[in-house]
Amino acid sequence: MLNIEKIRKDFPILQCTMHGKPLIYLDSSNTSQKPNGVIDAITHYYKNYNANIHRSIYELSAKATHLYEKTRTNIKEFINAKSTQEIIFTKGTTEAINLVASSLSFSEGDEIIVSTMEHHSNLVPWQKLGVKLRIIPISDKGELDLGAYQNLFNSHTKMVAITHASNVLGTINPIKEITKIAHQHQVAVLVDGAQAFPHLPVDVEDLDCDFYAFSSHKAYGPTGVGVLYGKKDLLEKMSPYQGGGNMIERVSLTDFTCNQLPYKFEAGTPNIADVIAFDAAINYIKSIGFENIMRHEQNLLHYATEKLNNIDGLRIIGNASKKLGVISFVMKEIHPHDIGTILDHEGIAVRAGHHCAMPLMERFKVPAMVRVSFGIYNTEKEIDHLSLALKTAERIFA
Ligand code: PLP
Repeated sequence: MLNIEKIRKDFPILQCTMHGKPLIYLDSSNTSQKPNGVIDAITHYYKNYNANIHRSIYELSAKATHLYEKTRTNIKEFINAKSTQEIIFTKGTTEAINLVASSLSFSEGDEIIVSTMEHHSNLVPWQKLGVKLRIIPISDKGELDLGAYQNLFNSHTKMVAITHASNVLGTINPIKEITKIAHQHQVAVLVDGAQAFPHLPVDVEDLDCDFYAFSSHKAYGPTGVGVLYGKKDLLEKMSPYQGGGNMIERVSLTDFTCNQLPYKFEAGTPNIADVIAFDAAINYIKSIGFENIMRHEQNLLHYATEKLNNIDGLRIIGNASKKLGVISFVMKEIHPHDIGTILDHEGIAVRAGHHCAMPLMERFKVPAMVRVSFGIYNTEKEIDHLSLALKTAERIFA
């Protein structure tokens, strides 16, 4: 059994109060809180190793470069990639997807398959290309219609871009099956792993996806860092994303040649401190173990689902058989923003709004939803407080 009280002590922010009440943080899908090890790694870097990387021969720079590259190796092993050349540091999931959209070549008439449950980050970069999006529909439970998916392929299909898990519904999609079908049509698959990466083990070799994008800040790491995993042969063929220092091998006044992978896609000085601190976040997850993380978060999901289903006028949206610890809901008489404000006054942080998934709001015919999402530090007691606050709100508005 996990000692959650001990885990909570690793997260200094959880000792805070909001409106005079102990903070109950139920918004980890938005961004997770950070353990001491991650916070300390940032200051430790600036106090002891601050230097630019990959370009200076003095010891300080060599140390900083070593730590930066150590994170890359750790991530490579963590997601079971074949080579560190397949791990590209970005600002986050959004930039990783934009990188693929800009660097792969698309032409007029190309088609990309996406789903109704995509975050705007996995819609807008493709819409900007002017290609046609073919949409996988979802059921009322919030599961992909895989039969319809198979019928979306044709000779124009260039890519499948799909989320591993929905940030709104919590649905965990069958990526292995989706990839297998796409590959039968010789189509590459990009997986938006922003939500899945912090909560379940990701093995890119087993999934066999061509690209996998994720963010550090949702996985107990700092903001401003993310990763694009890509199969080496595909990355080799892609043009560089941005031009500048580090991404070149040679430059003349008229042209340039590219550096080798992964540096070809890492122009300019990167977010060194936060990449280094991301290593501490990965090690933190490893120290707890996904088996424990998943068991704890699934317990919270089931406990909270039962509690919320007992509140009059509350409707949970998204009841997939495989879900992350995410529950979105609406209440009959109360606007989601009002619920968010009422909960805030009880010290409870949840997200209310369209969750950067407007097409999904349309699918369920609601303007907005309230979302609670769990991390490793949440407890059943916090869910009891949430449930009580929602019952009070329901009574007041009724
Ligand atoms: N994709 C999904 C499913 C998300 O939930 C998010 C963020 O909420 C993103 C992409 C974008 O992530 P980031 O803002 O870290 O780039």
